[in-house]
Amino acid sequence: ATMPPLLSAIANAGRHGVLVKSAVVMERLGQVDAVAFDKTGTLTEGTPRVTDVRPLTGSGVDADGLLRLAAAAERPSEHPLARAIVDAARERGTALPAADGFTATPGVGVTATVDGRTVAVGAPARLPSAATGARAAQAAVVAAELEEGGRTAVLVTVDGGPAGLLGIADRLRPDAARTVGVLASLTGTVPALLTGDNPRAAARLAAEVGIDEVRAGLLPEDKVRAVRELEAAGRKVMVVGDGVNDAPALAAAHTGVAMGRAGSDLALETADAIVVRDELATVPAVLSLSRRARALVV
Ligand code: ADP
Ligand code: MG
Repeated sequence: ATMPPLLSAIANAGRHGVLVKSAVVMERLGQVDAVAFDKTGTLTEGTPRVTDVRPLTGSGVDADGLLRLAAAAERPSEHPLARAIVDAARERGTALPAADGFTATPGVGVTATVDGRTVAVGAPARLPSAATGARAAQAAVVAAELEEGGRTAVLVTVDGGPAGLLGIADRLRPDAARTVGVLASLTGTVPALLTGDNPRAAARLAAEVGIDEVRAGLLPEDKVRAVRELEAAGRKVMVVGDGVNDAPALAAAHTGVAMGRAGSDLALETADAIVVRDELATVPAVLSLSRRARALVV
């Protein structure tokens, strides 16, 4: 017997390294006419590294101390930034103390109790910090400096006061710009970037890959809202993400595609399709497969 076109398209997608979960999804992929990308772990490789360790004057911690506290608080987190911080501390041979009461807030950061002190690590604009005055001003200056350099600035507070910043940088995937270009011509629309990262780093990366439509500083629910807005305008939106903070957007989209290697367990469950081979260029290939299969289904 000959295989129905959508099923042989699924088999073909599998050969390209993309797991399409059903024939319904295979069919929907071909209807997509708008694409929204997550940044960290999706357009970037998702293996960011700490490039700058900047304790603040008068904070009472030095560079090693800052990294030690941040890494101890981040150890239970599965966020790529958390892994970068823990790896940086380990590379310095720093022994990490135990942390209690770990909590993570998607799109914001983490808090935990380390050495009897409350340590918070996260986005400078989002993290509650009681501090005003010279140290807060210094923190804002350092954050702006790091972000202008294309880094993600991460603030570390100890008992609510700013202690220092970490600069973290991630490499663009080698096939990011090409994939954005191919998807733009395939769908007739320019892909959008939806990110929780800061506007400066987001704009810099968007320019590198050829995306004009950038929304930065988004929380997970803001990503859902952005997707709903596009769909209300009649678009069939494909969201490509790693699910660390975009599992709700993957679920809300017409078609949700998760990056498999960086992807969280939740993303792999929520998504309609999973990029198993770690290459972004497989996404437009699968859209084309779907279109061809749909042309054969009458
Ligand atoms: P993206 O949309 O680019 O994948 P996220 O929404 O996951 O980014 O993160 C947005 C921002 O929230 C990060 O740039 C960082 O400033 C902060 N953040 C989130 N989780 C963490 C964490 N575990 N440690 C430090 N910062 C975090
Ligand atoms: Mg992400």
